[in-house]
Amino acid sequence: MTIKNWPRVIALVDMNAFFASIEQARNPNLIGKPIGITNGIKGSCIITCSYEARSYGIYTGMRVNEAKKLCPAFIQLPSNPALYTKISTNIMNILYEITPDIEIFSVDEAFLDMTYCKKIWDNPKSIGKKIKEKVFSVSGVHCSVGISGDKTTAKYAAKLHKPNGLTIINPWDAENVLKNVSVMELCGINIGIGSFLAKRGVFTCGEVKKLPIGILGQRFGNLGRRIWYMCQGKDPEKVKSNVRTPKTIGHGKVMPPNTRSKDIIYIYLVHMSEKVAQRLRRNALSAQNFFIGLKTNKGWIGNKKIKALFPTNDGSQITALCKKTLSLYWHGESVYQVQITALDPQKEKGQIDLFSKDNNKRNQLNKTIDYVNKRYGEFTLAPANLLNRTDMPNVISPAWKPYGHRQSIFHTHNKNNIIVKKIFKLNKNS
Ligand SMILES: [Mg+2]
Repeated sequence: MTIKNWPRVIALVDMNAFFASIEQARNPNLIGKPIGITNGIKGSCIITCSYEARSYGIYTGMRVNEAKKLCPAFIQLPSNPALYTKISTNIMNILYEITPDIEIFSVDEAFLDMTYCKKIWDNPKSIGKKIKEKVFSVSGVHCSVGISGDKTTAKYAAKLHKPNGLTIINPWDAENVLKNVSVMELCGINIGIGSFLAKRGVFTCGEVKKLPIGILGQRFGNLGRRIWYMCQGKDPEKVKSNVRTPKTIGHGKVMPPNTRSKDIIYIYLVHMSEKVAQRLRRNALSAQNFFIGLKTNKGWIGNKKIKALFPTNDGSQITALCKKTLSLYWHGESVYQVQITALDPQKEKGQIDLFSKDNNKRNQLNKTIDYVNKRYGEFTLAPANLLNRTDMPNVISPAWKPYGHRQSIFHTHNKNNIIVKKIFKLNKNS
């Protein structure tokens, strides 16, 4: 097989059970054992687990005591974020030896665009093997690689054979390969989109073509139109390399008309704080200055620029600024929009030890939250007060929609005031 005439050549590299594999690689006694990583040795929620643990039905997000019921020999290990990020960086760096066009998708996943390297690599199998070799050489862990002509198909391919797989889908076969695959299998299609499609009798990728693209566009915007192509193995999305630091990062939301309830305004602000914080974290940024605004009939009120004590990407820190803004600038006016913008996003300078131990804990907690939310959907884990959002139809973003009030199971607040919502087991192999 040659890739000479492929219009685009895209690989998705996915480390297998990344954190658990790292632990096994550095401690051979753990090889072949059912291990799981938690936040600290007493953490109750499994961040990730080895394939041996998965064979017992243990999965990311499961509680440790449940896991022990399934497998009494289950070994719980504290996470080691500094080590994981170091190894992740080493892996990403070595991948640049394959192609300069890399999009780091998460701590353990990257898209590689090899379209412009076709002269060097002309056989997809040899590229895949090379990638796996390089990843293993710097990390001691195995990865799964999917190669195709677009991002979605490459990601789907990488999932097909795990662990340590290599799957190549010729771009011309992509539509046919995906034809009978459930739309829910594709990356980016959450339960909300899935149920929207299901209501219209669309369950498989092949069936999406039955719908006019406009219906998806109308409901989900650009993402909707993209999905229509994705399902045909023609995902137009580019590998986003050379990501520049954005000038600002902001999120705003229109509220129900004439909102005068302080509690409701506050919940909107918490929601936007979390969104801004998550986006900062996703881009390894933090910010110190924020715009926090409330739109009233007479225009914006609020803080044009409010400064946090330190650069932050923690939602609760931003929320604290919102609280201050509310008490200083809001005097009961009706508000119909809120906006929070991080004005000076800057690259994170690693863990700042200057902060108290608590802050370090908070960072670890945020990492876990991001990890779980990435797997199970935005706001699967969220601050407890956001639970009230479900009473307010306008607040809920499309990504949020599938998770209804009734589906929340643990209503207990843990000491970090985080509510654990029911975690959907979308894909036990992921
Ligand atoms: Mg992975």
